[in-house]
Amino acid sequence: MKLFKDKETHKDYTIIIGCGRLGASLANTLSDEDGNVLIIDKNKDSFRKLSPSFGGLSIAGDALDLDVLQEAQIDKASVLVAVTNNDNANIMLAQIAREMFQIQRVIVRLYDPDRKDVCREFGIDTICPAILSAKEIGKILINMPKKEYMEEEL
Ligand code: AMP
Repeated sequence: MKLFKDKETHKDYTIIIGCGRLGASLANTLSDEDGNVLIIDKNKDSFRKLSPSFGGLSIAGDALDLDVLQEAQIDKASVLVAVTNNDNANIMLAQIAREMFQIQRVIVRLYDPDRKDVCREFGIDTICPAILSAKEIGKILINMPKKEYMEEEL
């Protein structure tokens, strides 16, 4: 498997950090779409969430350890997605990716929406489950008037 951006196909090399439900699901999707993907998690049992057809690579280790990132060939990555369950770790990893390795696209998951602004200053894209969930619930409530809820309950 080629790890880095393929000159002929222009395929991205994506590193995902955190093989929880979100990280594993993203890794499976990218692998199914024939992407070059490597996933890191500090707990090797987490890799059980990857589908049997997962065609990428995995590394067990703490992604805050530079040796682990180097083993993952972070210098060859064009996309880094930090989705550990720790906002501080995700922000730190995003800064390492942007500042030390000039990775073009860096996306982090943030539980605390108040930290979005810090990331924006560094050119880091953020995903906040709390904000996304609130928007989706709002859409459901707008599209389904109260009367319909009440009728369903009867
Ligand atoms: P979840 O809580 O389901 O989103 O999963 C988050 C994942 O991130 C877990 O599998 C953790 O083991 C992993 N994780 C947390 N911190 C780190 C870290 N510093 N390096 C690598 N993986 C981590």
